[in-house]
Amino acid sequence: MREAMYSAKVGDDVYGEDPTVNELEAMAAERLGKEAALFVASGTMGNLVAILSHAARGDEVIVGYDAHSYRSEAGGMSTLGGIVPKPLPTNIDGTIDLDVLETSINPDDPHCAPTRLICLENTYGARNGWPVSPGYMSRVRELSDRFDLKVHLDGARFFNAAVALDIDPKELARPVDSVSFCLSKGLCAPVGSILCGSSGFIHKARRVRKVLGGGMRQAGILAAAGVIALNEMVDRLVEDHANARLLAYGLAEMPGITIDPARIRTNIVLFDLAENSPFTVDEVSDRLRDEHGILLGSSGRCSFRAVTHFWVGSREVEQLLDALGRILAEYTG
Ligand SMILES: *Cc1c(COP(=O)(O)O)cnc(C)c1O
Repeated sequence: MREAMYSAKVGDDVYGEDPTVNELEAMAAERLGKEAALFVASGTMGNLVAILSHAARGDEVIVGYDAHSYRSEAGGMSTLGGIVPKPLPTNIDGTIDLDVLETSINPDDPHCAPTRLICLENTYGARNGWPVSPGYMSRVRELSDRFDLKVHLDGARFFNAAVALDIDPKELARPVDSVSFCLSKGLCAPVGSILCGSSGFIHKARRVRKVLGGGMRQAGILAAAGVIALNEMVDRLVEDHANARLLAYGLAEMPGITIDPARIRTNIVLFDLAENSPFTVDEVSDRLRDEHGILLGSSGRCSFRAVTHFWVGSREVEQLLDALGRILAEYTG
């Protein structure tokens, strides 16, 4: 990727003249079966541009209460867009019950903010990166058609979902009006995300990106890495998923850890210290860092959050299992 970045052909993307950005956008649109695509600086920017392009000040957006776009994007839709989020409870598989979804859509009443958009997420980060089924997404599409709503998919890990479900990305993207996905994270590029949708939508989104300060000049040096991400880093995601399962089944055998390994379908492994554990989460993570040189993050709903990717493979998984086993063995033994 560094070599491709060094030798990338560039131009001024604000004028649509960067050949590498244009190549990446065309590739991405083709891959997802959408008319057009837009290169953006981050996943957060992709979601914000999408939401601001679908909905206006005073409109309402329905979103999962633990969705990234609601919980972890600094309230962008409200702070910058004057848009009202309606966060709804989600299930263990990252879905919102369809009847709850339907009854949450505001009537055409002057008391209510007009509901304009439903935001889905796939894979669902807060639910172990669960791949949400295309069947569910199609049912959300039918519902939103009946109420004349748009559907945006936060697909930061869209390709993890497609690979885990063994489904053509075009099929997975078909039910939604727009999709954002990260070139960084699992696909390993240093910077960038893509937003895909119809030509009209992307035309509008390009102006919104400019408003947010996201119009970049010779962005081809970044897009060059994105081209490699799309061409070479998608098929290997199966390895990350296998390594995550390796970790999950290893953890399941460890006394002092609580995890249901059957819930691990992609690359995110959320797990807990057992309820009767004499250790705190901080003690375990401090010892992993100080004694084993391993940095392990914690997460809102669970004690720990581990993610496998190109740089965290089976060797690193074995290292973590070994280190955790040693720490936990000390108190049981
Ligand atoms: C990481 C992530 C984002 C945001 O991406 P950034 O590039 O960090 O801004 C959005 N949605 C989901 C589900 C994510 O995991």
